[in-house]
Amino acid sequence: MKFKVALAGNPNSGKTTLFNCLTGSNLYVGNWPGVTVEKKEGDLKNTSEKITLVDLPGIYSLAPYSMDEIVSRNFLLEERPDLIINIIDASNIERNLYLTTQLMELDCPMVGALNMMDVVQKKGVEIDVDALEKLFGFPFVEISAQQETGIDDLIKMVGRIVKNDKKQEFPKIFPEQINEIFKEFENLLQNKFPNVLPDYPRIFRAVKLIEKDDEVLSKIDDCSILLEDIEKTRKKIEVFSGNDVDSAIADYRYRFITATINMATRKTKENTQQFQEQLDKVLMNRYAALPIFFLFMFIIYYVSITLVGQVTIGGITWFIKDVLIVNIAAGLGSIGAADWIIALINDGIITGVGAVLTFVPQLMALFFFISILEDSGYMARVAFIMDRIFRHFGLSGKSFIPMVVGLGCSVPGIMATRTLENERERKLTAVLTPFISCGAKMPIYILMASVFFTTNQTLLVFSLYLISLIVVFSSGFILSKTWFKGADSGYLLEIPPFRLPKIKNTLTQVWERIKEFLVRAGTIIFAASVVLWFLQNFTLGFQMVQSADESILATFGKVIAPIFVPLGFGNWMASVALLTGIAAKEMIISTLSVLTAGQAGGLTLAISQIFTPVSAYSFVIFILLASPCMAALATMRKELGNWRDFFFAVVYQLGLAYMISLIIYQVGSRIFI
Ligand code: GDP
Repeated sequence: MKFKVALAGNPNSGKTTLFNCLTGSNLYVGNWPGVTVEKKEGDLKNTSEKITLVDLPGIYSLAPYSMDEIVSRNFLLEERPDLIINIIDASNIERNLYLTTQLMELDCPMVGALNMMDVVQKKGVEIDVDALEKLFGFPFVEISAQQETGIDDLIKMVGRIVKNDKKQEFPKIFPEQINEIFKEFENLLQNKFPNVLPDYPRIFRAVKLIEKDDEVLSKIDDCSILLEDIEKTRKKIEVFSGNDVDSAIADYRYRFITATINMATRKTKENTQQFQEQLDKVLMNRYAALPIFFLFMFIIYYVSITLVGQVTIGGITWFIKDVLIVNIAAGLGSIGAADWIIALINDGIITGVGAVLTFVPQLMALFFFISILEDSGYMARVAFIMDRIFRHFGLSGKSFIPMVVGLGCSVPGIMATRTLENERERKLTAVLTPFISCGAKMPIYILMASVFFTTNQTLLVFSLYLISLIVVFSSGFILSKTWFKGADSGYLLEIPPFRLPKIKNTLTQVWERIKEFLVRAGTIIFAASVVLWFLQNFTLGFQMVQSADESILATFGKVIAPIFVPLGFGNWMASVALLTGIAAKEMIISTLSVLTAGQAGGLTLAISQIFTPVSAYSFVIFILLASPCMAALATMRKELGNWRDFFFAVVYQLGLAYMISLIIYQVGSRIFI
């Protein structure tokens, strides 16, 4: 017999780490909500039973606000696992048990995995596991997923419960009078409406109907027949509690939790949290928080882009140009390969893919630092602080998370919007995230900076980030009042404790992201480089070109180039580069390199002839703000859920990019020339 066990818990409770320990599979360990949205399954190891472990997305409650919550509870309700492993961050036990009180209503056997016990012990707190079991009606095991302690006990407990110990009696967590009201409502459902969700666990069904949970109501054919009874019951709860129903229910849950915690935990030594508190006083200070954050980001970009670039770019370019290309030409020449094959390989593939690979060390450094900020718990604090600001612009502090992830790549950034509960804010964030410059656009800025702005490269790149922030906020403000109108969320973000990032985690994250980048270089960019080389070396009549401006690409570039004349880059090569940039932003540089491959002086000289400093700036602004690459567009379409919003987003992004570049070029060229 095969058993099914679900792993449920809050984000950041160590779920991914525990899942890996329990199944032994090698999965990516991330720290942001959104990473574990996908359903993961694995076989539980070290047990004689056949047990499949299903990893549910990290959630704070079973409310129907985010997709994660809906996914999780639908799974628990519809697939009825044999057991839920409820992972609880014991160092934040109060907040984590909130979900537990809701899971208890699902009428499914449970075991509580009290994780982060290493942290709890350091804090000098003791947890009485037996007392917890008595109070909650199901067993708890103390573990540390990171140190891999207690895992065997947990596995044994799981095996025992699924096989022969399924009967668990959960206590009533609400006050007696409230329980009575629920009971009355349950009886009413049973007698008067026997066909309403008969398969749902009884308490869950009653609570959710009383809460007027949209998801649950939508599953009833005609819920209007129930509404009167629901309203009556709500009234009773309101009268008894003196509070609105949602707050009252949440409040009773917390009262139950506080009471149990007081009975089951004991402090053995003085809290050593003082250092953390001191740190928070500085990092989350009203006035200092944002300057500190921008200082961090400035240092990170300076180190990753300028310093790392200085060390690596020269060497890699030398290797590609003077070693690889020269030797391949010689090698292929000696075996009698045709000239066009040598040209395809050298000017097409190696020049195209190579131009992108040159920037890998800088991206690695960038990912490395961002990953450290995420894992240490700092990003969650920044998101918390940002909540105050973002709220003014129709967004939530949580919108900040996708945007920071979008610094690496817009695709995971846009995907991370799934954890925003509020649909309006979620869609808006998905549309605004591409305005935050992704890592793939960085090479273009650096290239332009190295040609035109040698003395203030960092300033140029920094100014772009500033502009993208201004665009995000002003667009958020405008769109939240127009296209994406609706109610705001009232969500407050959690603040996890500071943690020392684990170097293995950080490196895994860097590798995961770089891998994605390399895979794209090896597939889309490789293919596009080959296609591009053909388009560039053949005429419309499929003849080899005599000079570059007869090619298919040039013909097309010339057709669209006039559109960009008012922006200062009406040159056909620039237009072609923008077109190929739709495939992937890295292609912009590859294209410019391929197009100018034959010219003496190479890419840098060619660029200094195509652009002026002002038009170069206008060009990078256009790239910064115009619609993202194919992969990100596809992700945006998926997250927006309909074509209407998608087309609006694309038109908005392109239109805004065009307008701002136009203003910059028209004003700039009058001032500086
Ligand atoms: P998830 O978001 O719930 O999947 O959490 P992760 O598994 O990604 O863990 C979040 C962070 O907590 C990571 O940095 C883990 O290394 C860390 N972590 C997980 N379990 C433990 C633990 O038992 N003790 C400590 N100290 N850290 C842990």
